Amino acid sequence: MLPKSITSYLADHSGIEVQSAQNVSGGSINQAVKITSNMGDFFLKWNSSAPDDFFTKEAEGLTLLNSAKSDLRVPEVIVAEKPGESRPAFLLMEYIVEGRSGNSFTFGKELAKLHQTTAPQFGLETDNYIGSLPQSNRMHDDWPSFFSEERIIPQLKLAIDSGKMDRSLLANWDRLASKLDELLAPTKPSLIHGDLWGGNYLFDSSGKAVLIDPAVYYGHPEMDLAFSKMFGGFSGDFYEGYESVTALEPGFSDRVQIYNLYPLLVHVNLFGGHYTSQAMQLLNRF
Ligand code: ADP
Repeated sequence: MLPKSITSYLADHSGIEVQSAQNVSGGSINQAVKITSNMGDFFLKWNSSAPDDFFTKEAEGLTLLNSAKSDLRVPEVIVAEKPGESRPAFLLMEYIVEGRSGNSFTFGKELAKLHQTTAPQFGLETDNYIGSLPQSNRMHDDWPSFFSEERIIPQLKLAIDSGKMDRSLLANWDRLASKLDELLAPTKPSLIHGDLWGGNYLFDSSGKAVLIDPAVYYGHPEMDLAFSKMFGGFSGDFYEGYESVTALEPGFSDRVQIYNLYPLLVHVNLFGGHYTSQAMQLLNRF
């Protein structure tokens, strides 16, 4: 149930008088509602046990994606707050009315345009989260070292320290990491969504793709495309749209497995179970 501490905060600080709240399902981490108010409809999510800066970081990510030169829609952030005295952290944003179908070709095309936003280094000025796990964005000059040191090793160590995986797998990763310069295609550091699986976009009522729940940083554009294939893949139109702007480098399909070791390890740390055996099998091949 929507905590009263949030509704009174919104009334006192933003003049938003909540008239009704309707549960929204689908989120894996937070509680969420659609609220109807004197100022219109909003989407609100909160969490009493998340790290203090969980939603302010999500808001920064949404705002960064929104500022990029792409026609992808990103919900506008209205209020993002750390926890207050007996009030949970929360994020209030524009409510997106979902449509029945969407234009996947344009989604792919606009994602490729988003990826044209570049930075001098890989990483981001601040760390953030992927799901509920911390994501380190310490800057690196080259992609293979960023991918190994800020993506794979922290997740692998977390899995080892929590007893889910065996320490010997670090040596397997080291073997693969030493070959990453040859295996991974070079790129400029590009703004990416960072957690682009099927649950992290919607189509609005005009059929336009809307990005939600980002884990942004400047990384390799192929990371977003690999994530999109994590659970079966997006529609063929999406990849055609992407390639109408930016052609994929040869060998992309061979690299997907390496990239997707990251979301796989995130799943090991969040959910364990069969993801653990899948990740171990993959690492044992190196
Ligand atoms: P969580 O952070 O808990 O995973 P999400 O941000 O993924 O939660 O949101 C849960 C569900 O709420 C999504 O699957 C989507 O259907 C819906 N949703 C998310 N953001 C909005 C929004 N701005 N407007 C309308 N619905 C949204």
